[in-house]
Amino acid sequence: MLSATSVRADGDLVQIRLRLTAMAEVLEVRRHALACDLESMQEEVLDELDRAQRVSEINFATALESATVDASAQLAHAIDVLDAGGYGLCEDCGARISAARLSFRPESTRCLTCQDRADSKRSGA
Ligand SMILES: [Zn+2]
Repeated sequence: MLSATSVRADGDLVQIRLRLTAMAEVLEVRRHALACDLESMQEEVLDELDRAQRVSEINFATALESATVDASAQLAHAIDVLDAGGYGLCEDCGARISAARLSFRPESTRCLTCQDRADSKRSGA
C-alpha cells in the first residue's frame, strides 16, 4: 500500500495514468448519455406549458455536456503531459503542483495560482 507521502516513482505514474484514463472513459460515457438525452428532449413534442420547462432543461444539459467536453480535453492533455514526463509540474510557471491538489484533481496541469489566473482570463474577468 502506497502512503500519500511516498516519493512519486514510475509505478505511481502508471497508477495516475490508469486513473486519468478511467476518468476519461467515465466522462465519455456521461457525454454520450447527455447527447442522447438532448436528442430525445428535442424530438419530443410538448404542449406550450411544458415547452418553457423543457428549454431550461435543454440549456442545462447543453451546459453540462460542454463542461464534460472541456473536462475530457483537460484529461487528455494531462495524459499527454504525463507521457512527456512533465506530470506534477505547472505548465505555466514550472512550480511543483501540490500533492493535495493532484490527489483531488489528478488532471491538473497548473498550480493553483496559475489555474486561477487562467480561469479568470478565460471568463473575461
Ligand atoms: Zn504555476
